[in-house]
Amino acid sequence: MTALPVREAPSRALDVAAIRAQFPILATRMRGRPLIYLDSAASAQKPRAVIDALARFYERDYANIHRGVYELSQRASDLHEQARTTVARFVGASDAREIVFVRNATEAINLVAYAFLEPRLEPGDEILLSEMEHHANIVPWQLVAERRGARLVPVPITDAGELELEAIAERIGPRTKMLAVTWVSNVLGTVNPVHEITALARRRGVPVLIDAAQAAPHLPIDVGALGADFLAFSAHKVYGPSGVGILWARAELLEAMPPWQGGGDMIERVSFARTTFNRIPYRFEAGTPDIAGIHATGVALSWLLGLGLETVRRHEEELVGCALESLPRVPGLRIIGAPRARAAVVSFTIDGMHPQDIGTLLDLEGIAVRTGHHCAMPLHERLGLSATVRASFGVYSTPAEVTALTEALARIVARYR
Ligand code: PMP
Repeated sequence: MTALPVREAPSRALDVAAIRAQFPILATRMRGRPLIYLDSAASAQKPRAVIDALARFYERDYANIHRGVYELSQRASDLHEQARTTVARFVGASDAREIVFVRNATEAINLVAYAFLEPRLEPGDEILLSEMEHHANIVPWQLVAERRGARLVPVPITDAGELELEAIAERIGPRTKMLAVTWVSNVLGTVNPVHEITALARRRGVPVLIDAAQAAPHLPIDVGALGADFLAFSAHKVYGPSGVGILWARAELLEAMPPWQGGGDMIERVSFARTTFNRIPYRFEAGTPDIAGIHATGVALSWLLGLGLETVRRHEEELVGCALESLPRVPGLRIIGAPRARAAVVSFTIDGMHPQDIGTLLDLEGIAVRTGHHCAMPLHERLGLSATVRASFGVYSTPAEVTALTEALARIVARYR
């Protein structure tokens, strides 16, 4: 199976009205008003194609996979493996064996931390991370570091919220055993130069994991060009169902890794004396997975590829542009970070108001934003903030929604600050 790179004509634009019509939830009302959903970075809403795929799978195709000799089980198994092929195509992998299905991006990172890194870690070893990581890309490494007497080395970010190559290069040393970095920050929206980062790490012989949880919904991925060793993301942020995560890993690394969780499906032969293990990727997929969810993940990724990631990126750049232009007109509003490249996320504070109150007051107007530390406490500490408000966009977001957010904030500030 050969993966096709994602290519498209540069002139296409998203038909956002037609896209919105495919998302039933966007037609609902919140607090008596049309829902304005600006929390896609936490989880994206689901198009009809994905909702129907789930229902249809349970209605017509459902059985456990890889086990039955009967037709229904074989059909479910075929659809399951088709989803794997679609995921491989989505990330530009030429080998579907490099796709491991897990529960979420968090579990994918844990798998790498325990099955790949822990056996290689010795006391005094170092794991490099950036200051802008989500807790999912901090805590698993910290747990294995503690078990092995190793330590985390944070790479500082600039005041603009960027990660600089020199800062990484300075910290890579003979004890560096892993570099784990996010492609897109879930708070700042910063798009990190991951291709340059992986090239730098590879020159120094350091394995790299890219946390693509916030990149996958917005940017084309081509693991061949990326040069990383591992890449993790969650289906629920790419318009797929919750409960499914994806780990892409180089086949030769997966082959060399011991199993992580034991159970059914991951074995070849079991006896009380000794167990031998299945081939990759099944060796890392113990137990019954979210069969319908994985099928619907394939449908979601095909749907997103159908829109075209370059087209999606241009649409979201326009939304970010609108937000960066209009939000600062709200008195006291401060946008967090000023990265040169920013994907669909804008976080801010308003002087004299608590982010939690802002979120609650926006909710009264039917506007859903996220408030808090967004699972990035070390980043907030670096910024000297305990919490921020975050607006994030998806393919269905519109400039009119950004305007509605700005106007609602202006009203809130006039009334309550
Ligand atoms: N990394 C980043 C950058 C994220 O934004 C998130 C989700 N907020 C995760 C990892 C973890 O994703 P999940 O909770 O789906 O495992």
